[in-house]
Amino acid sequence: YKDTDLVLSIESVTKSFDGFKAINDLNFYLGEGELRTIIGPNGAGKSTFMDLITGRTRPDSGTLTYHQSDGHDLDLTKLREYQINRLGISRKFQTPSIYQHHTVYENIVLSLSHDRSVLKSLFYKESVEDKEAIEEVLETVRLQDMRNDPAGLLSHGQKQWLEIGMLLAQKPRILLVDEPAAGMSDEETERTGELLLSLEGKHSIMVVEHDMEFIRQIARKVTVLHQGHVLKEGKFLEVANDPTVKEVYLGR
Ligand code: ADP
Ligand code: MG
Repeated sequence: YKDTDLVLSIESVTKSFDGFKAINDLNFYLGEGELRTIIGPNGAGKSTFMDLITGRTRPDSGTLTYHQSDGHDLDLTKLREYQINRLGISRKFQTPSIYQHHTVYENIVLSLSHDRSVLKSLFYKESVEDKEAIEEVLETVRLQDMRNDPAGLLSHGQKQWLEIGMLLAQKPRILLVDEPAAGMSDEETERTGELLLSLEGKHSIMVVEHDMEFIRQIARKVTVLHQGHVLKEGKFLEVANDPTVKEVYLGR
């Protein structure tokens, strides 16, 4: 990368819990508009890695730098979780936090008001620009036909897409997605892969996943985490065929 193409530079980051290094001298760079998949066995440090980026957890040492679009750099370790979120770094957790009794459309409106207090959001009136953005989001996550359905009636997969849509409505620059295909049918998994690929170039996306088949479908640059460290980074096939990766990740 040229420096200007990066959105995130993570250097020599270490984070211990009771003396155990969950993240151990991690170096990682994310490009603008890139779709990156992060894999690794249970306990590899994937969730801790996401926590460090979003400010939920502080590193013991090392640097996490956010490269703003205006060229200025920000030290993420100096910022609080909500400040990092406002910079345009959004995270989707595994359990969707949608309003079951509100419609799909209303859920996206609620996400626009940012503080996500339902009471305040009830008085939130979407502007013409908001309406256009909502239509675009509905189309992206392919829930146009479900717009008036209560979110609680959606399938598991559709709920996950709705939540991705709610984050997209906030126009994040970086989107972190934790195991988006967990619990999905094969068809839903495939559509989730298509959805993420359609976001490439518009957002910088990090997808944490342990399902190798899903990573294969996305087939973009893969970072393999192992014991809190980058074990291997590269194209899907390079990584999947690496003997060390096979050994630690696939147990073969
Ligand atoms: P992954 O998401 O790849 O499964 P995690 O980041 O959740 O891995 O965990 C990495 C290691 O750090 C694990 O051994 C886990 O037990 C430990 N760990 C994570 N968070 C904490 C915490 N808050 N307190 C103590 N240990 C933790
Ligand atoms: Mg995890």
